[in-house]
Amino acid sequence: MTKIFEGKVVLITGGSRGLGAATAEAFARQGADVAITYAASAEKAEAVVEVLKAKGVRAIAIKSDQADLSSARPLIDKVIAEFGKLDILVNNAGIATQGQLVDDPNLDEEKYNRQWQVNVLGSIANTRAAASRLTDGGRIIFIGSLLGSYVPFKGVADYAGTKAALIGYAKGIARDLGPRNITVNVLQPGAMPTDMNKDVAGELPPLDAFLDLHPIRRFATLEEVAEAVCFLAGPHAGYITGETINMAGGLGI
Ligand code: NDP
Repeated sequence: MTKIFEGKVVLITGGSRGLGAATAEAFARQGADVAITYAASAEKAEAVVEVLKAKGVRAIAIKSDQADLSSARPLIDKVIAEFGKLDILVNNAGIATQGQLVDDPNLDEEKYNRQWQVNVLGSIANTRAAASRLTDGGRIIFIGSLLGSYVPFKGVADYAGTKAALIGYAKGIARDLGPRNITVNVLQPGAMPTDMNKDVAGELPPLDAFLDLHPIRRFATLEEVAEAVCFLAGPHAGYITGETINMAGGLGI
């Protein structure tokens, strides 16, 4: 395989599990040096790092809870201290708090507010910290969700809102960073087989009914979504910016 990311440094937030771990592997397979973050799963993050190193690249895991906005600058400092630069930022870390309706008098506001903090403010803090230090010609990719554009069931308003917020933000910074040939895009996956999906499964429609809404009647594989991230980060996507790309098997068309 051509190592199109040889000499590139990528930071993937939330790389200890799920899509972030799969994306880290895809970049490493194509030659990138990779930093991943995690909030709690130290052992899983270290296991991912071992897998990445076995592919012949440099890799580190950094504990950086993005609910704490002051963690952003030290995170970027650490990546640059380790690898000397940063070319690609993948804002992947996120949480899903779902199931309660907005008119539920018992809505757990603290829990729902934390989701905005992690998914939106944490991603923005990391992006702000990275922006001035990103290599010209670099890439920023936000992992949104199809729910940011299309909401086919109840109980997900806040999650959908956090993901929709990323769309406007990405367009704005695509304008800001375009003169440096830095592209900024949002990839919106549909359902993927991860811990997050298992955690919220009880809050979603029955699986069969949900799959029936998809022209491609299955979940995405992590590998295909990871490869789409790599495409947006790669040399052939340099003229795609400010876009929101759905990868949801046709759900919502
Ligand atoms: P997982 O729950 O499987 O993994 C989440 C990752 O994010 C973990 O590495 C976790 O670290 C990290 N993370 C969580 N909170 C924080 C935090 N406060 N600071 C830093 N890192 C944190 O999620 P997925 O892989 O499923 O999701 C990845 C992205 O894809 C998310 O943005 C999600 O919203 C989006 N998405 C997911 C879909 C799905 O069906 N799964 C569908 C559409 C979009 P740790 O292990 O330490 O907790």
